[in-house]
Formats: sequence, structure tokens, C-alpha cells
Amino acid sequence: MASPSLIPAHFIVFFVVSRLMSIIGNLRPSKNSLPCEIDSLGVHAKLRYDLDAIGLASTDYGNIVHEIPSAVLYPTSIDDIIELIKFSNECPLPFNVAARGHGHSVRGQAMAHDGVVVNMLSLKKHYKNGNGIRVSTSGNYADVGGEQLWIDVLNATLEHGLAPLSWTDYLYLTVGGTLSNAGFSGQTFLYGPQISNVLELDVITGKGDFMTCSKDQNSELFYAVLGGLGLFGIITRARIVLAKAPKRVKWVRMIYSDFSIFTRDQEHLISTKGLEYLEGSLLMDYTPANNWRSSFFSPSNESQIISLLKKHGILYCLDMVKYYDDETANSVDKDVQMLQEGLNFIPGFTFMRDETYFDFLNRVRRGEITLKSKGLWDVPNPWLNLLVPKSRILDFNAGVFVDIIHRQKKTTGPLLVFPLTKIVWDDKMSAVVPDEDIFYSVGLLHSGSFNDWQDLDNQNNEILEFCDRAGIKMKQYLPHYKSKEEWIKHFGPKWNTFQERKAQFDPRMILSPGQNIFNYV
Ligand code: FAD
Repeated sequence: MASPSLIPAHFIVFFVVSRLMSIIGNLRPSKNSLPCEIDSLGVHAKLRYDLDAIGLASTDYGNIVHEIPSAVLYPTSIDDIIELIKFSNECPLPFNVAARGHGHSVRGQAMAHDGVVVNMLSLKKHYKNGNGIRVSTSGNYADVGGEQLWIDVLNATLEHGLAPLSWTDYLYLTVGGTLSNAGFSGQTFLYGPQISNVLELDVITGKGDFMTCSKDQNSELFYAVLGGLGLFGIITRARIVLAKAPKRVKWVRMIYSDFSIFTRDQEHLISTKGLEYLEGSLLMDYTPANNWRSSFFSPSNESQIISLLKKHGILYCLDMVKYYDDETANSVDKDVQMLQEGLNFIPGFTFMRDETYFDFLNRVRRGEITLKSKGLWDVPNPWLNLLVPKSRILDFNAGVFVDIIHRQKKTTGPLLVFPLTKIVWDDKMSAVVPDEDIFYSVGLLHSGSFNDWQDLDNQNNEILEFCDRAGIKMKQYLPHYKSKEEWIKHFGPKWNTFQERKAQFDPRMILSPGQNIFNYV
């Protein structure tokens, strides 16, 4: 694979723009596939058919799938979305509708072929008080629009000295987008995924009904929507749990050369009190020690790591974080030392950073800005995210990390691996996880070029085939499948409930066609 860093930025920008224009150039008169009565609706003036709107709605972070919608709705109120969905329901042949949050899906999940994409970010501009984030007077929760970015939620809540407990690694994602999947990161072993930190939702169902739901009110809809891949309704408000925000963090990274010792220490730490965040990643001898997702090492640390990599080929980084504030500033170093007691990382290979809580949570943004400045952000990203049962993680390491990824030396993207605990996930929700108390999140965050991303995707398929052959009962996170049989297997015992909920809340199968679940059925 040609290394992306060797390609001049202006060439990539030119390539992306011309590729997009050629895709959109094939567009037939778009309104044709929508009923002409749409022009008599109140929302008609907020539907856009121009190349800018259609181009954006037919692209996502993955840069692999491009589905052309007939129109894009730029709503200025929730009523606009209700009107559109109700209208589709009234048509003899309903058209599809997809909410587009920030478009950070990787396989066209927020697209709607020949349908209407709802540009959720458009709502952000139209709140009467200037924002869609309201912190409760009790300080226990915030009411947040589904279209809000998590970075804005963080900024708004920090003004009150508060913050949500559960995060994603990257904050430029919408609340509705992550709640449709799960939303997890290094805090999840402790606080649960973002879907476990929601008290109440406002949802526009696939029938166009506006409903408030929670564990006690319209609970079937509440559980359906959380992790529901956008298939049951459009989230317009989420009530998110808040707690006192820490001021700073101690971020510690330890290096291992033995995967079984690395995972044993990870599992020990998530069962230990006092830790707020734990993740892990792999370093390979053919890639730099720092990457866009984490520029943790200083140049002198980097050269130490490179010599170690020459010896071992693969290294494993364990990242743990301890939060602190003014009251705990004096004791935090001792607390970190205690957490490290008994761990078996390579002696001397422990590194520490001290950061503000905000900078720590927003750490991936730094990498994004750097990649964007080099024209390397908007490239094909054939990511594969898996949840692997703890009982098979050593087999996964041998079969995938060592025998496929390291042997083939194709990917230069971040490779993440860290444990999560099932107890903090609610099985009534639509999100699907393996059937073990502890399972590992594995993120293979490949970036390719427009010519060779297929090679990386072939490797993904090889990995999936290996898991199948080896009987590793993993689940895909941010799943994408091509057939009904694969979806049924993915949902397992939840499939019947999933189907029944679809029939109840979106009987005409209007919503989220880009997930390719009910369109194939
Ligand atoms: P979109 O891509 O716009 O939409 C995703 C799906 O949700 C679509 O089906 C869409 O129709 C639906 N949807 C969007 N808005 C709504 C709504 N309001 N109501 C109902 N359905 C809606 N995930 C993690 O869990 N942890 C991470 O650390 C993490 N890091 C990431 C880092 C990067 C750089 C990227 C690109 C992705 C990352 N993700 C992570 C994945 C991310 O959570 C999902 O891709 C998420 O869907 C992105 O949110 P979005 O707003 O861009 O959603």
C-alpha cells in the first residue's frame, strides 16, 4: 500500500473533489423519485436539491459508500422532520428518510438512496436561546438536542463545573449518532457506554409520532432507540447524566511485549477501584510509535520505543487515567503508584502526561487537525470494529494481530484493544455485545488511499473469516452486513424483538435505509 504520507495534500484534495463530482454528476433529476405533492408541504422550502447539499449527504467519513438522495432537508424545527416523515407515511410508496448527524459513519449508514437525508446539524442554528444544551438546576443531568456535538456538550457542561461520565475518544460526533450505536471509550468499563447514561429521550418515530420515552414511559421505544442504528426513530433530545467534572488528569502509558500479560493487567485494573479510564493499543515495528489518534510519546521516548520494537516486532500499550482536582492534587501521584503496583509492564517503560480534563477528552482533535492540514483526513477509512469475548482474546491475538496484521504489514492506522464489562450494558437495549462478562473492544482503524483501500477491506474480510473458522463469537460494533442472514446472526436472540419493534415504530420501513437491514428483508 502506498503510504498516505507520501501523497501531496493538494493532490488528495483535488482527487476527493473530482471523485465526488463524478459521483454526483451521474445524478438524475433528483426530485423525480419524490412524490410531486412534496412541493405543497410547509417543509418544501427547506428541502435542498443542489450539488453542495446532495454531495455532503452522499459522503461520510468512510469515503467508501456513496448513495445519492433525492433531497436533503435542512430543518429549522422538530416539526419540519415530523411533517416530512408523516408525509412519507401517507404516500402509496413511501420514500426513505435518514438522519445525518455529523456523517462519521464509515459505510453509508446515514445515507438514503433516492430518499431524503435530514441534516440534523441544521437544527443547531435554530434554538431560540442559541443552543440546544440545557443543564438542569439540580446539576444531575443536561437536556441535549440529538443534533448536538459532544464537544459542545462538554463545553456547555464544564461552564457549570459538570460533565457527562461516558465518552467516545473523539468528540466531534453527534449525540443522536453515538446513541444510535452505543458510544464507548476508556471510561466505559466503569460507567457504561453512553447509551447507559441516558435518562430520557424525545423521539420522532418512523410513523412521524413525537414521543417522550424513558425506562418508565414508552419504555419499548426507549430501549429500541438506544443502540438502534437509527431504525426506530430520530432522537431530538436526550437527557444525559452529569457529575462533577475533574480539573486535570494523570495519563499513564505502560509498554508490554507479551499480550497475555498485557491483557491480564488490563483485566486486573478494570476490577480495581480508583481508575477512571483504561484503553490499550498495539505498536508494530513497521509503523511510527505516534499516530493521529495518539501523539503521546516525546521524540526521545519514541526512539526508545523504536529500539524495543526492533527486538519484539509488536508492542502493547496500556493507557490508564486517574482524574484529579485541587483537593486531590497532593495525593494523585501516590494513587497512580498504587495502581501500578503489581503490574508487569517492561521495567522502565512507563510514561506519564499531566493534562487538563478538557484536553485529555479532546485529544483526538489534535490528530484530526494535523491530518486535515496534510489532506489525509478525507481518505477512505475501511474501519473494522469488533467486540471479542475475553475467553478468545488470546486466540484473536495469535490469529489476527500476529498472523494477519503484523505478517501482512498493510495497515498503518491505530489498532485499539481494551476490555469492557457487560454488567454496565442493559440487555433490553438494541445494542448487541458478546455473551461474556468481559469482552474486548478491538478497533482496526485503517486509512487507505482511493486506489488501495480495497486491499485493507480484503484483510478485514480475512479477519472475519478467521473468526468464523476459529469459532470466535465476536460481534461487530458499527456493524455492516450485506445479507439478512448475517443481520439475524448478528442480533442473535434479539432479532425477533428487533423486528417487532421495527413493525411497531416504523412499519413502513422508512428510517435509516443506509443500515441495509430491512431493505434486504
Ligand atoms: P452519523 O454517521 O451521521 O449517523 C450514524 C447513524 O445514526 C445513521 O444510521 C444515522 O441515520 C443515525 N442517526 C444520526 N443522528 C441520529 C438521530 N438524531 N437520531 C437517530 N438516529 C440518528 N464510536 C465510539 O463508540 N467510540 C469512539 O471512541 C469513536 N470514535 C470515533 C472516532 C472517529 C474519528 C470516527 C469517525 C468515529 C468514531 N466512532 C466512535 C464512531 C461513531 O460513534 C459513529 O460513527 C457515530 O455514528 C458517529 O456519529 P455521527 O453524528 O457522525 O453519526
